[in-house]
Amino acid sequence: MDFSLSHEQEQIREAIARLCEPFDAEYWLRKDREGGFPDELHRALAESGWLGIAMPEDYGGAGLGITEAALMMQTISQSGAGLSGASAVHMNIFGLHPVVVFGTDEQKRRWLPPLIAGKDRACFAVTEPDAGLNTLKLSTRARYEPGADGGHYVVSGQKIWISTAQVANKMLLLARTTPIEEARGTEGLSLFYTDLDRRYVEVREIDKMGRKPVDSNQVFIDGLRIPAADRIGDEGKGFSYILHGLNPERILIAAEAIGLGRAALARATAYAGERVVFDRPIGRNQAIQHPLARSWMELEAANLMVMKAATLYDAGKPCGAEANAGKYLAAEACFGACENAILTHGGMGYAKEYHVERYLREAWIPRLAPVSPQLILCFIAEKVLGLPKSY
Ligand SMILES: Cc1cc2nc3c(=O)[nH]c(=O)nc-3n(C[C@H](O)[C@H](O)[C@H](O)COP(=O)(O)OP(=O)(O)OC[C@H]3O[C@@H](n4cnc5c(N)ncnc54)[C@H](O)[C@@H]3O)c2cc1C
Repeated sequence: MDFSLSHEQEQIREAIARLCEPFDAEYWLRKDREGGFPDELHRALAESGWLGIAMPEDYGGAGLGITEAALMMQTISQSGAGLSGASAVHMNIFGLHPVVVFGTDEQKRRWLPPLIAGKDRACFAVTEPDAGLNTLKLSTRARYEPGADGGHYVVSGQKIWISTAQVANKMLLLARTTPIEEARGTEGLSLFYTDLDRRYVEVREIDKMGRKPVDSNQVFIDGLRIPAADRIGDEGKGFSYILHGLNPERILIAAEAIGLGRAALARATAYAGERVVFDRPIGRNQAIQHPLARSWMELEAANLMVMKAATLYDAGKPCGAEANAGKYLAAEACFGACENAILTHGGMGYAKEYHVERYLREAWIPRLAPVSPQLILCFIAEKVLGLPKSY
């Protein structure tokens, strides 16, 4: 059991921290006020090759593991970029995992290099308004039409909460190819990676609580033609392909949450040392110290679970329990740290210029998405404790 980072992992942290330095707290405060995708950060990461950190070397990636990707995402978030920075590249890092595992060589050559170079931007279109967390109830329909070139699918339906759809030119889409009443078990859904053709796809931004620079949207698809060559793997098996990417996604968002929690804790600790009330720094009071100490313990304990999940994943071992537990613990620890940071700042915690209220608004995201805390508890109860499935 070795809990230390390797030399290479330390170097990743240092390089990403340096790269994020120009994007300081004032940059993110301005982005939070005005919106606008953080193109500059996306470009800086793409130009230095970081978007391919976990992509295979044969297609221009660095071929590193989800552990290294998690460290990178955590460092971006911890720099003060929070979820606004991490979400700008999150999908690029893990999202095309089903393509890496199940795509053909031709598809990987066509899709991975432009994504790694930052030329393509992808969004991930799964959630639907009427299905919620019950993915097997998705109703966006893809109907196959044969043709000399292998044929194509015509897709119509509605998605919700699709992040980065305002700026994406590509879409990883899960859609129904077999009517729900004829589908067996988890089959009937197919996975596509295709052009987001705005002639057939209307994207409406959702006005939301936090992470203003990275949009989330309602997406209306009406008659989008997708070449059969853009289907990943077999028809009807899309749900099982998506499952392969779920654990890495949970690990990455958990790492991002810990980064955000650490950023909040650092601000709170600095303020506690500076702010003088009753003729002494407020940080001399145990009532200020203890919540911050507790947040440190919660964040670091969650981080151990997340890194365990990442290590298991990279070793090709099952990690569902650890990835889910890590995501739950990290999100709760992050939220607690952001709340404690506001309480430490007193009234100034409510002022935007002190940044911690922005962090708290962003801390809701890893709590709510991509899976809710309730569903994680249901999963652990069933899969780890052996209790009956409750949902
Ligand atoms: C900022 C943001 C970005 C997002 N980005 C994307 C994206 O890029 N792509 C994408 O596809 N989706 C995205 N999502 C969607 C996200 O994954 C979903 O919101 C999430 O999966 C929850 O689904 P829902 O909102 O439909 O909740 P619902 O399924 O409506 O659930 C509502 C509540 O009921 C609870 N609940 C439901 N059933 C049970 C049960 N049986 N037992 C206990 N509790 C239950 C849930 O835990 C939840 O608390 C994003 C969401 C947010 C907020």
